[in-house]
Amino acid sequence: MGTILEGWKNLQAISISSVRDTLSGKYHSRDFIHARMEYLRSRVILVGLLFALLTPLWTLMDWWVLPSWPAHLMAIRVLSLGGLILCVWLAFNGHQRITRIYVLSGLVFILPASFYAYMLLTLAGAGHYVVLGYGFIPFLLVATLSIFPFTLLESALVGGALIALQVLASVSSGTWLTMKGLQDLWLLSALLVVALTANYFHLGLLLRLYRQATHDTLTGLLNRGALSRQLGQEAAHEALHILMVDLDHFKQINDTHGHSVGDEVLMRTASLFKAHLGPEDLAARYGGEEFMLILSGRSDEQALNFSRLLLRQVHGQIFFNHDREPFQITASIGLALCQPGQNIEEVLQLADQRLYSAKRAGRNQVVAQD
Ligand code: GH3
Ligand code: MG
Ligand code: MG
Repeated sequence: MGTILEGWKNLQAISISSVRDTLSGKYHSRDFIHARMEYLRSRVILVGLLFALLTPLWTLMDWWVLPSWPAHLMAIRVLSLGGLILCVWLAFNGHQRITRIYVLSGLVFILPASFYAYMLLTLAGAGHYVVLGYGFIPFLLVATLSIFPFTLLESALVGGALIALQVLASVSSGTWLTMKGLQDLWLLSALLVVALTANYFHLGLLLRLYRQATHDTLTGLLNRGALSRQLGQEAAHEALHILMVDLDHFKQINDTHGHSVGDEVLMRTASLFKAHLGPEDLAARYGGEEFMLILSGRSDEQALNFSRLLLRQVHGQIFFNHDREPFQITASIGLALCQPGQNIEEVLQLADQRLYSAKRAGRNQVVAQD
């Protein structure tokens, strides 16, 4: 019954976090922010190139269809084309530049939309053909939203601006509050809902794939690869305390009580670690029954006290085997400090050596010095 309840709670937590994470990027981990930026970067390059290629084709069509074409509009068109090519070039060379990629993702929409708005405002009295020839720009841009792994709030913001653009088009073409104007607005809103739905599934899928690739399925903690990546990013900026934690005589637990009881021990101990860590700390399953915890912003003394508290908590857990008999476990910890710029591999080795010193000294203890 307890396991079913725990499973239900986990499911609820996952659903809540996936809705929350598709709505806004506020709670995305630093690692996922970088991963999403890479996806956005590829979309900026692809869509930017597509729009840049469409611009000369449009010019050709205008030259063929329209009676006259004012010179200032041609200048704006060239400017917009130049802007799109610049976007593609900056995205191409913007690997891991988070703010730049955000701005470029917006510009890919803003440039064609501004071109259309400028045309509507300057040629307001020039007749229907202007709007008819370019009237599908807001629709094209709303459809393009679904190609980007945007959060729902980001898409809604761009979508809102595009609806405002459509209102401007309606007013300037004289169809505002007519059947045609309302029909266009209704179609654009419906397309926006479709785009938002696509964004929800698109980002949700990315989040799920990302979680599977970076988290251990049994304990829900980060896996070793993801931890190494995050550690590499964080250790460059601040001092971190590294705790190498290994459960004592775990093989005996498996041998005596069975593998499923061993799994239960791993799951509950991982939850205990998570419950004791702050939002800036990290926890990973490093190997079978080996965990690594990374503490940030602690003094040596605080890190040592935290390690001792953790060992008391690990031992304080009561487990039950299949015969409902209680048993307890202990763990050993090797603690090492990683200063900014220090070689991480060396620090990890040090923590590992200290862990084995703790084992040799009788287990259920922390070793923080050689
Ligand atoms: P020590 O105190 O020296 O660390 O001894 P130990 O028995 O904990 O260490 P040892 O490396 O000999 O055994 C680790 C065991 O962990 C062996 C393996 O079967 C078990 N193990 C590894 N991964 C899992 C898992 O996912 N589930 C379960 N139930 N057991 C696991
Ligand atoms: Mg062990
Ligand atoms: Mg081990």
